Amino acid sequence: MANRQGGSEWPRESQPRAASEPDHDEPPPIEWSDETPAPRAASGPQRPATADRSPPRPASAPPPSRSVSPPPAEARPRSASLPLVDPSGPPRAADGPPRAGSDAGLRAQAQAWTPGQKLEYLRTRNVGDCTRCKLSKTRTNIVFGVGDPNARVMFIGEAPGADEDRRGEPFVGAAGRRLTQWIERLGMKREQVYIANVLKCRPPGNRDPAAEEIEKCSPFLRAQVRAIRPAVIVALGRYAGMLLIGTDEDLKLAQMRNRRFTYDDAGAGLQIPLHVTYHPSYVIRREGELPPGQRNPADDTVMADLERALRVLRS
Ligand code: URA
Repeated sequence: MANRQGGSEWPRESQPRAASEPDHDEPPPIEWSDETPAPRAASGPQRPATADRSPPRPASAPPPSRSVSPPPAEARPRSASLPLVDPSGPPRAADGPPRAGSDAGLRAQAQAWTPGQKLEYLRTRNVGDCTRCKLSKTRTNIVFGVGDPNARVMFIGEAPGADEDRRGEPFVGAAGRRLTQWIERLGMKREQVYIANVLKCRPPGNRDPAAEEIEKCSPFLRAQVRAIRPAVIVALGRYAGMLLIGTDEDLKLAQMRNRRFTYDDAGAGLQIPLHVTYHPSYVIRREGELPPGQRNPADDTVMADLERALRVLRS
């Protein structure tokens, strides 16, 4: 199914690799850190044989408002606390041995890219017209993410709903309107933050994300965080909270909110303050249970959580 959000120049995964394809037709890595081995996408979206290694130019990417140079390699921790997951599965024997060098060269070039260029590369060349899980069969659009690539605040939800699936943009339905209100009550505009989801495709009937879908899709979210390097992350709801905290425990939201966690991506030298609060859909549901006109305590709770999260911007 086509990604109407921007399309993909890559052949579908089902298309076989031609034996004569040159070396630089290696699938592009989704990580930019030079410590991490590039995931080998055995059958993922493919680079056209004629493409060079320069990043795609985002049509409307604003100029970066802050330095994005990652620290020198020797200054960054070398251990990876989060396991890297190759979203396209293990290499196939038919692909032959890995071709060394090409991904390392790309990573070296990517160090100089702006966050907007990194996101655009990720969206067009890595996510592409993704068919890595079965959600690709039922989605209308891939919902990659939206906002300022240089944002200091990143909001992360669970998965697109019906409105998002139709429009290819996260949080544009009723939950999105509530999120936008919260952002504005914090004195910001929606365009100043970055909004994404754990899953990029809608689970049918808005069911909970399956473990396999999270496993296949979450490397894209991690790469988005690596590109943006926000000052603070706000997880909306339980699923996003548990994934970003990196816990296998089945935590309740009440156990996660009103605490400061750290989003830890040691492979990229990232330790980002992480706060978890209620998902806007939950807050809207609670409102429906109250007498008309009564103030919604869940809404006040979220605002208190968000104020607390954003304190880091002032410190
Ligand atoms: N709920 C989410 O978690 N994300 C969206 O984009 C919309 C609704």
